[in-house]
Amino acid sequence: MTSIVVLGSTNMDLVAYVAKAPARGETVTGRSFRTIPGGKGANQAVAAARAGGEVAMIGAVGSDDFGYRLRDTLEHCSVDTDLLRTVEGPSGTAHIVVDDEGGNAIVVVPGANGTVTSLSHGDEALIANADLLLLQLELPLSVVVDGAAHARRSGVRTVLTPAPVQPLPPELFDVTDLLVPNEHEATALTGRADPHAAALALLEVVPEVVVTLGAAGCLYAARGADLLAVPAPQVRAVDTTAAGDTFVGALAVALGEGRPVPEALAWAGTAAALSVRREGASTSMPYRTEIDTALG
Ligand code: ADP
Repeated sequence: MTSIVVLGSTNMDLVAYVAKAPARGETVTGRSFRTIPGGKGANQAVAAARAGGEVAMIGAVGSDDFGYRLRDTLEHCSVDTDLLRTVEGPSGTAHIVVDDEGGNAIVVVPGANGTVTSLSHGDEALIANADLLLLQLELPLSVVVDGAAHARRSGVRTVLTPAPVQPLPPELFDVTDLLVPNEHEATALTGRADPHAAALALLEVVPEVVVTLGAAGCLYAARGADLLAVPAPQVRAVDTTAAGDTFVGALAVALGEGRPVPEALAWAGTAAALSVRREGASTSMPYRTEIDTALG
Protein backbone atom coordinates (compact mmCIF):
# COMPACT_ATOMS: atom_id res chain seq x y z
CA MET A 1 0.00 0.00 0.00
CA THR A 2 1.23 3.49 -0.79
CA SER A 3 2.07 5.36 2.41
CA ILE A 4 1.01 8.99 2.13
CA VAL A 5 1.34 11.82 4.64
CA VAL A 6 -0.64 15.01 4.15
CA LEU A 7 0.67 18.17 5.82
CA GLY A 8 -2.30 20.45 5.38
CA SER A 9 -5.55 22.08 6.33
CA THR A 10 -8.85 20.91 7.75
CA ASN A 11 -11.80 23.25 7.21
CA MET A 12 -15.50 22.95 7.73
CA ASP A 13 -17.06 23.86 4.38
CA LEU A 14 -20.19 25.98 4.87
CA VAL A 15 -21.85 25.59 1.49
CA ALA A 16 -24.74 27.62 0.09
CA TYR A 17 -26.32 26.30 -3.13
CA VAL A 18 -27.75 29.08 -5.26
CA ALA A 19 -28.96 29.60 -8.85
CA LYS A 20 -26.51 32.44 -9.46
CA ALA A 21 -23.81 33.74 -7.12
CA PRO A 22 -24.40 37.28 -5.78
CA ALA A 23 -22.45 40.20 -7.20
CA ARG A 24 -20.79 42.66 -4.81
CA GLY A 25 -23.42 44.43 -2.65
CA GLU A 26 -26.16 42.04 -3.82
CA THR A 27 -28.16 39.63 -1.63
CA VAL A 28 -29.68 36.52 -3.18
CA THR A 29 -31.81 33.75 -1.69
CA GLY A 30 -30.09 30.37 -1.74
CA ARG A 31 -31.79 27.05 -2.30
CA SER A 32 -30.07 24.98 0.39
CA PHE A 33 -27.20 24.89 2.88
CA ARG A 34 -24.87 22.15 4.06
CA THR A 35 -21.87 21.83 6.36
CA ILE A 36 -19.36 19.50 4.77
CA PRO A 37 -15.97 18.53 6.22
CA GLY A 38 -13.23 19.78 3.89
CA GLY A 39 -10.00 21.77 3.66
CA LYS A 40 -7.54 21.08 0.87
CA GLY A 41 -5.34 18.95 3.11
CA ALA A 42 -8.17 16.84 4.51
CA ASN A 43 -9.74 16.53 1.06
CA GLN A 44 -6.52 15.18 -0.42
CA ALA A 45 -6.17 12.83 2.55
CA VAL A 46 -9.68 11.41 2.10
CA ALA A 47 -9.25 11.17 -1.68
CA ALA A 48 -6.00 9.24 -1.25
CA ALA A 49 -7.48 6.95 1.42
CA ARG A 50 -10.54 6.16 -0.70
CA ALA A 51 -8.29 5.53 -3.68
CA GLY A 52 -6.49 2.87 -1.65
CA GLY A 53 -3.60 4.68 0.08
CA GLU A 54 -2.50 4.35 3.69
CA VAL A 55 -2.85 7.96 4.78
CA ALA A 56 -1.89 10.05 7.83
CA MET A 57 -2.73 13.70 8.36
CA ILE A 58 -0.63 16.38 10.09
CA GLY A 59 -2.42 19.66 10.87
CA ALA A 60 -4.83 21.09 13.43
CA VAL A 61 -8.52 21.32 14.21
CA GLY A 62 -10.13 23.76 16.67
CA SER A 63 -11.74 22.99 20.04
CA ASP A 64 -15.22 23.73 18.62
CA ASP A 65 -17.90 21.33 17.35
CA PHE A 66 -16.51 21.63 13.83
CA GLY A 67 -13.15 20.33 15.08
CA TYR A 68 -14.85 17.26 16.50
CA ARG A 69 -16.57 16.53 13.23
CA LEU A 70 -13.50 17.19 11.11
CA ARG A 71 -11.41 14.68 13.07
CA ASP A 72 -14.24 12.17 13.15
CA THR A 73 -14.69 12.35 9.37
CA LEU A 74 -11.02 11.70 8.73
CA GLU A 75 -11.01 8.74 11.11
CA HIS A 76 -14.17 7.42 9.50
CA CYS A 77 -12.32 7.48 6.16
CA SER A 78 -9.43 5.49 7.71
CA VAL A 79 -7.06 8.48 7.80
CA ASP A 80 -4.63 8.29 10.74
CA THR A 81 -5.18 11.41 12.91
CA ASP A 82 -2.73 10.66 15.75
CA LEU A 83 -0.69 13.73 14.77
CA LEU A 84 -3.65 16.00 14.05
CA ARG A 85 -3.58 18.52 16.89
CA THR A 86 -6.65 19.96 18.63
CA VAL A 87 -6.00 23.61 19.55
CA GLU A 88 -8.03 26.09 21.59
CA GLY A 89 -10.27 28.25 19.38
CA PRO A 90 -12.20 27.88 16.12
CA SER A 91 -11.52 25.35 13.39
CA GLY A 92 -10.78 26.53 9.89
CA THR A 93 -13.87 27.35 7.86
CA ALA A 94 -14.49 27.72 4.14
CA HIS A 95 -17.50 29.77 3.06
CA ILE A 96 -18.54 28.41 -0.33
CA VAL A 97 -21.17 29.45 -2.85
CA VAL A 98 -22.01 26.82 -5.49
CA ASP A 99 -24.08 27.96 -8.47
CA ASP A 100 -26.31 26.04 -10.87
CA GLU A 101 -23.48 25.66 -13.38
CA GLY A 102 -21.41 23.83 -10.78
CA GLY A 103 -19.04 26.81 -10.44
CA ASN A 104 -17.91 28.01 -7.01
CA ALA A 105 -16.54 31.01 -5.08
CA ILE A 106 -14.77 30.46 -1.74
CA VAL A 107 -13.54 32.45 1.30
CA VAL A 108 -11.27 30.48 3.65
CA VAL A 109 -10.75 31.58 7.29
CA PRO A 110 -7.72 29.62 8.60
CA GLY A 111 -8.65 29.29 12.32
CA ALA A 112 -6.73 26.36 13.84
CA ASN A 113 -4.77 25.81 10.63
CA GLY A 114 -2.91 29.05 11.32
CA THR A 115 -1.45 27.61 14.53
CA VAL A 116 0.54 24.92 12.71
CA THR A 117 3.84 26.76 12.59
CA SER A 118 6.36 24.00 13.32
CA LEU A 119 6.82 20.24 13.06
CA SER A 120 7.24 17.95 16.07
CA HIS A 121 9.73 15.06 16.14
CA GLY A 122 6.73 12.79 15.68
CA ASP A 123 5.66 14.70 12.57
CA GLU A 124 9.17 14.46 11.15
CA ALA A 125 9.40 10.72 11.82
CA LEU A 126 6.03 10.15 10.13
CA ILE A 127 7.07 12.14 7.06
CA ALA A 128 10.44 10.37 6.83
CA ASN A 129 8.71 6.98 6.64
CA ALA A 130 6.19 7.90 3.93
CA ASP A 131 6.34 7.27 0.18
CA LEU A 132 4.90 10.70 -0.62
CA LEU A 133 4.20 13.97 1.20
CA LEU A 134 1.24 16.02 -0.05
CA LEU A 135 1.27 19.76 0.62
CA GLN A 136 -0.97 22.73 -0.19
CA LEU A 137 -0.89 26.39 0.88
CA GLU A 138 -3.62 26.55 3.54
CA LEU A 139 -1.10 26.20 6.41
CA PRO A 140 1.50 28.88 7.26
CA LEU A 141 4.04 28.92 4.41
CA SER A 142 7.01 28.41 6.76
CA VAL A 143 5.76 25.00 7.91
CA VAL A 144 5.01 23.97 4.32
CA VAL A 145 8.61 24.75 3.42
CA ASP A 146 9.90 22.92 6.53
CA GLY A 147 7.80 19.85 5.78
CA ALA A 148 8.87 19.67 2.15
CA ALA A 149 12.53 20.22 3.07
CA HIS A 150 12.37 17.46 5.65
CA ALA A 151 10.75 15.10 3.13
CA ARG A 152 13.43 15.91 0.58
CA ARG A 153 16.21 15.18 3.12
CA SER A 154 14.51 11.85 3.85
CA GLY A 155 14.15 10.89 0.19
CA VAL A 156 10.35 11.23 0.30
CA ARG A 157 8.64 12.49 -2.88
CA THR A 158 6.87 15.85 -2.42
CA VAL A 159 3.68 16.88 -4.26
CA LEU A 160 2.63 20.52 -3.90
CA THR A 161 -0.75 21.98 -4.83
CA PRO A 162 -0.09 25.75 -4.96
CA ALA A 163 -3.51 26.81 -3.65
CA PRO A 164 -4.62 29.31 -2.59
CA VAL A 165 -2.12 30.70 -5.04
CA GLN A 166 0.45 33.21 -3.76
CA PRO A 167 4.03 34.17 -4.59
CA LEU A 168 6.26 31.25 -3.57
CA PRO A 169 9.82 31.40 -2.25
CA PRO A 170 12.52 29.65 -4.33
CA GLU A 171 13.33 27.41 -1.33
CA LEU A 172 9.88 25.82 -1.66
CA PHE A 173 10.29 25.09 -5.37
CA ASP A 174 13.73 23.66 -4.57
CA VAL A 175 12.17 20.92 -2.44
CA THR A 176 9.11 20.24 -4.62
CA ASP A 177 9.23 17.15 -6.86
CA LEU A 178 5.81 17.47 -8.48
CA LEU A 179 3.80 20.70 -8.69
CA VAL A 180 0.06 20.40 -9.46
CA PRO A 181 -1.51 23.82 -10.16
CA ASN A 182 -4.83 24.31 -11.88
CA GLU A 183 -4.88 26.55 -14.94
CA HIS A 184 -5.43 29.77 -12.96
CA GLU A 185 -2.70 28.96 -10.47
CA ALA A 186 -0.27 28.09 -13.26
CA THR A 187 -0.97 31.46 -14.87
CA ALA A 188 -0.68 33.34 -11.58
CA LEU A 189 2.69 31.70 -10.82
CA THR A 190 4.20 32.29 -14.26
CA GLY A 191 2.35 35.21 -15.86
CA ARG A 192 1.67 32.91 -18.87
CA ALA A 193 -1.95 32.60 -19.94
CA ASP A 194 -1.32 29.57 -22.14
CA PRO A 195 -1.13 26.38 -20.02
CA HIS A 196 1.55 24.85 -22.26
CA ALA A 197 3.75 27.92 -21.82
CA ALA A 198 3.01 28.01 -18.08
CA ALA A 199 3.91 24.32 -17.67
CA LEU A 200 7.20 24.84 -19.50
CA ALA A 201 7.98 27.93 -17.41
CA LEU A 202 7.33 25.97 -14.21
CA LEU A 203 9.78 23.27 -15.33
CA GLU A 204 12.50 25.82 -14.76
CA VAL A 205 11.80 25.68 -11.02
CA VAL A 206 10.51 22.11 -10.42
CA PRO A 207 11.28 18.81 -12.22
CA GLU A 208 7.67 17.71 -12.86
CA VAL A 209 4.41 19.62 -13.37
CA VAL A 210 0.77 18.66 -13.89
CA VAL A 211 -1.47 21.57 -14.88
CA THR A 212 -5.10 20.56 -14.36
CA LEU A 213 -7.52 21.99 -16.92
CA GLY A 214 -10.97 21.28 -15.50
CA ALA A 215 -13.22 19.50 -18.00
CA ALA A 216 -10.34 19.57 -20.51
CA GLY A 217 -8.22 17.17 -18.40
CA CYS A 218 -4.60 17.90 -17.65
CA LEU A 219 -1.19 18.61 -19.07
CA TYR A 220 1.94 16.81 -17.82
CA ALA A 221 5.42 18.22 -18.23
CA ALA A 222 8.74 16.78 -17.10
CA ARG A 223 12.28 17.91 -17.81
CA GLY A 224 13.64 16.24 -20.92
CA ALA A 225 10.29 14.76 -21.99
CA ASP A 226 7.53 15.80 -24.41
CA LEU A 227 4.42 17.50 -23.00
CA LEU A 228 1.60 15.01 -22.46
CA ALA A 229 -2.07 16.05 -22.67
CA VAL A 230 -4.53 13.72 -20.93
CA PRO A 231 -8.24 14.37 -21.66
CA ALA A 232 -10.86 14.08 -18.90
CA PRO A 233 -13.85 11.73 -19.15
CA GLN A 234 -16.95 13.69 -20.19
CA VAL A 235 -19.42 14.01 -17.32
CA ARG A 236 -22.20 16.37 -16.26
CA ALA A 237 -20.62 18.61 -13.60
CA VAL A 238 -22.77 19.14 -10.50
CA ASP A 239 -20.15 20.48 -8.08
CA THR A 240 -16.45 20.92 -8.92
CA THR A 241 -15.45 21.99 -5.36
CA ALA A 242 -12.81 19.32 -4.65
CA ALA A 243 -11.99 18.11 -8.15
CA GLY A 244 -8.35 19.14 -7.90
CA ASP A 245 -7.92 17.57 -4.46
CA THR A 246 -9.53 14.33 -5.62
CA PHE A 247 -7.20 14.33 -8.61
CA VAL A 248 -4.08 14.82 -6.45
CA GLY A 249 -5.09 12.23 -3.84
CA ALA A 250 -5.71 9.56 -6.46
CA LEU A 251 -2.61 10.55 -8.44
CA ALA A 252 -0.43 10.17 -5.33
CA VAL A 253 -1.73 6.64 -4.75
CA ALA A 254 -1.12 5.61 -8.37
CA LEU A 255 2.38 7.12 -8.48
CA GLY A 256 3.23 5.50 -5.14
CA GLU A 257 2.26 2.16 -6.65
CA GLY A 258 4.83 2.78 -9.36
CA ARG A 259 2.31 3.01 -12.18
CA PRO A 260 3.49 4.72 -15.38
CA VAL A 261 2.67 8.46 -15.46
CA PRO A 262 0.10 8.32 -18.35
CA GLU A 263 -1.80 5.54 -16.58
CA ALA A 264 -1.63 7.34 -13.22
CA LEU A 265 -2.95 10.56 -14.80
CA ALA A 266 -5.85 8.80 -16.53
CA TRP A 267 -6.76 7.08 -13.26
CA ALA A 268 -6.62 10.36 -11.30
CA GLY A 269 -8.68 12.11 -13.99
CA THR A 270 -11.31 9.40 -13.75
CA ALA A 271 -11.43 9.79 -9.95
CA ALA A 272 -11.85 13.57 -10.28
CA ALA A 273 -14.53 13.22 -12.96
CA LEU A 274 -16.50 10.91 -10.69
CA SER A 275 -16.28 13.47 -7.87
CA VAL A 276 -17.67 16.40 -9.92
CA ARG A 277 -20.84 14.41 -10.70
CA ARG A 278 -21.82 14.61 -7.01
CA GLU A 279 -22.32 17.48 -4.54
CA GLY A 280 -19.80 18.12 -1.76
CA ALA A 281 -16.06 17.86 -1.20
CA SER A 282 -14.87 14.76 0.67
CA THR A 283 -18.37 13.28 0.45
CA SER A 284 -18.16 13.23 -3.35
CA MET A 285 -14.90 11.32 -3.66
CA PRO A 286 -14.90 7.88 -5.27
CA TYR A 287 -13.55 4.63 -3.83
CA ARG A 288 -10.87 2.64 -5.61
CA THR A 289 -13.31 0.09 -7.01
CA GLU A 290 -15.50 2.87 -8.48
CA ILE A 291 -12.47 4.38 -10.23
CA ASP A 292 -11.40 1.00 -11.63
CA THR A 293 -14.95 0.24 -12.80
CA ALA A 294 -15.37 3.65 -14.47
CA LEU A 295 -12.07 3.24 -16.32
CA GLY A 296 -13.27 -0.15 -17.62
P1 ADP B 1 -9.39 22.66 -9.26
O1 ADP B 1 -10.48 21.82 -8.69
O2 ADP B 1 -8.17 22.67 -8.41
O3 ADP B 1 -9.81 24.03 -9.70
P2 ADP B 1 -9.57 21.66 -12.00
O4 ADP B 1 -10.84 22.40 -12.17
O5 ADP B 1 -8.52 21.85 -13.04
O6 ADP B 1 -8.88 21.91 -10.60
O7 ADP B 1 -9.95 20.11 -11.92
C1 ADP B 1 -9.00 19.13 -11.55
C2 ADP B 1 -9.22 17.88 -12.36
O8 ADP B 1 -10.55 17.40 -12.12
C3 ADP B 1 -9.13 18.07 -13.86
O9 ADP B 1 -7.81 17.90 -14.32
C4 ADP B 1 -10.05 16.98 -14.38
O10 ADP B 1 -9.36 15.75 -14.40
C5 ADP B 1 -11.13 16.91 -13.30
N1 ADP B 1 -12.32 17.72 -13.66
C6 ADP B 1 -12.62 18.96 -13.21
N2 ADP B 1 -13.77 19.41 -13.76
C7 ADP B 1 -14.21 18.41 -14.57
C8 ADP B 1 -15.35 18.24 -15.43
N3 ADP B 1 -16.28 19.19 -15.56
N4 ADP B 1 -15.46 17.07 -16.10
C9 ADP B 1 -14.53 16.10 -15.98
N5 ADP B 1 -13.44 16.19 -15.19
C10 ADP B 1 -13.29 17.33 -14.50
